[in-house]
Amino acid sequence: MSENKVNAAMISAEDIAKIQADLLAQKKQIMNDLQDISGEDSHEADNLGARFPEYGDKPDENAQEISDYTTNLATEKVLESALKDINSTLSRIEKGTYGTCKYCGNPIAPKRLLARPTASSCVECKTELQEND
Ligand SMILES: [Zn+2]
Repeated sequence: MSENKVNAAMISAEDIAKIQADLLAQKKQIMNDLQDISGEDSHEADNLGARFPEYGDKPDENAQEISDYTTNLATEKVLESALKDINSTLSRIEKGTYGTCKYCGNPIAPKRLLARPTASSCVECKTELQEND
């Protein structure tokens, strides 16, 4: 009986496998998007840099280049941060520490993990620390 109680508070291996597959698919998509922005073939996220577009030498074309470059940089930042979260989550799954709060060591509620697969802390610790994610 007590065993069932413990399992109920932990995310199931089946759900973790599902989350892992989802994260791998997301990672692939993000890598593709980053490559589109940077125009590089490198798979190292750290080496990617937004490419400065070249539309022409007219003032309006130059303004558009700067505008698009700024947008690309912002997008790249968001994608790289998402990629970082996904990578650290995937490594927690591989290490078997996924679903455990990094602060208190208690299981993170399966409901929370299914809603936010990259969560690494339980709701209690999160509320206490008032993080933004
Ligand atoms: Zn916690």
